[in-house]
Amino acid sequence: MLYGKFKFITFVNSQFKIKAMVNINLNSTINFEKTEIIEIKNSVIIINKQDKIVNFSKEEKKFIEKAIKSDETIINLSGFNNLKLVIVNNTEKADYKQAEALRIAGNKVFAESEKHKIEELNILSSNNCKNEILYLTEGVVLSSYKFLKYFKDAEKKITKLKTINILNTKAKQTEIDTLKTLINSVFVARDLVNEPVNYLTAEKLADEIKKIGKNSGFDVEVFGKNKIESLKMGGLLAVNKGSIDPPTFTIVTWKPKNAKNKKPIVLVGKGVVFDTGGLSLKPTAGSMDEMKCDMAGAAAVAGTIKTLAETKTPVYVIGLIPATDNRPGQNAYAPQDVIKMYNGSTVEVLNTDAEGRMILADALSYAKQFDPELVIDLATLTGSAVAAIGHYGIVGMGNAKPEIFDKLKQSGENTYERIVEFPFWEEYDELIKSDIADLKNVGGKYAGAITAGKFLEHFTDYPYIHLDIAGPAYLSSPDKYNGKNGTGVGVRLLFDFFKNM
Ligand SMILES: [Zn+2]
Repeated sequence: MLYGKFKFITFVNSQFKIKAMVNINLNSTINFEKTEIIEIKNSVIIINKQDKIVNFSKEEKKFIEKAIKSDETIINLSGFNNLKLVIVNNTEKADYKQAEALRIAGNKVFAESEKHKIEELNILSSNNCKNEILYLTEGVVLSSYKFLKYFKDAEKKITKLKTINILNTKAKQTEIDTLKTLINSVFVARDLVNEPVNYLTAEKLADEIKKIGKNSGFDVEVFGKNKIESLKMGGLLAVNKGSIDPPTFTIVTWKPKNAKNKKPIVLVGKGVVFDTGGLSLKPTAGSMDEMKCDMAGAAAVAGTIKTLAETKTPVYVIGLIPATDNRPGQNAYAPQDVIKMYNGSTVEVLNTDAEGRMILADALSYAKQFDPELVIDLATLTGSAVAAIGHYGIVGMGNAKPEIFDKLKQSGENTYERIVEFPFWEEYDELIKSDIADLKNVGGKYAGAITAGKFLEHFTDYPYIHLDIAGPAYLSSPDKYNGKNGTGVGVRLLFDFFKNM
């Protein structure tokens, strides 16, 4: 029954012109003594299929029962000047699929709410279930993202929905705050991915991460070209040779005093701010025209550490972000070049479009000095990963212990940023042997996602997981609450992983 005391938590969503942001700025507890749902204006009510339908008028009840019989999951009871949606939770187990169904419902709620130009929405669950409300809210708010910076009439396009009131007695303010922080970080990652390279050069990316660090309370150190040259990061410098913009190497540190882990977990994010393919030039349509997203790994690392710092999560994490654009200009590196990498290994370049592994390799070698407990890289690395599973998930592989990998995969289900584990057999090492150098940067026609991972493994000496996010990082058509273009994939996944560590 819905009689009783409700906590009334307000979730204010303000879309600014330049930066997409979500703000929850209120926490007021209001007692709803004997208030019925039917009296609450602009409401979304989650009901369970198996429960008795209460707190609705006779006509509404009839309508709901009929709709449930024909398997409808979103029932619209809106009347004049009042949006009223009933979400039918028809999955029996409270598992990750139910969570995802509610997020997707949240996406539809958002669309309906915008259609009716609603500014304030009340979300509640007929059996006062907390998680159902949080998943639905997550879906609504993730759907509210817009990248409006470059529109002349941005003000007009701003999301109408400004406030979500969560009517529930179990939801804690800290949980709501964490959700807000997390979604904000996803939005920051999406913003970074959606910025074109004529704004977001490697130096600008480093600057943006510095700004985020200053606001969120984590350390950021940036190496410029001179330092990168003195360190002899040959992979990063080779890819940068065709560019007039200098490369950067950004080190991000979140080390709270109460960290659970002594040895850090290192996250490495690919920061190719634009990938033309270099001399092995990409075709434009459906390929080069999406390549501002080739720094989505970097965005995910920045967004994750931002969330950890703002929520004061007690884990010691270091982020490494090598960044450059990849162009055919100037004295661009060429196929058949032999490059001496940061760790002293030599690489025969056979395709300049396989540049991500060149810059990541140097970062992975650099990570050794931290004696890490685990290293995870995120990279929009191969078309092969997309060819294998589309945009529905992340291709993962590695040599970390199965229980660690399983935890990460569990987080993948929790957040629906699912990971498919590919084999990491030693036979694949044969495919990247070169006639002239220690390695070559492409492995041939088959198993391209795996040979890329094997190439990277060569530069590691610690437990390692490679996540190829080429599929889900950037979408050319809208996909539920992930929207279109930059998705910010990886932030929710990794935060869940660290939160449950
Ligand atoms: Zn490339």
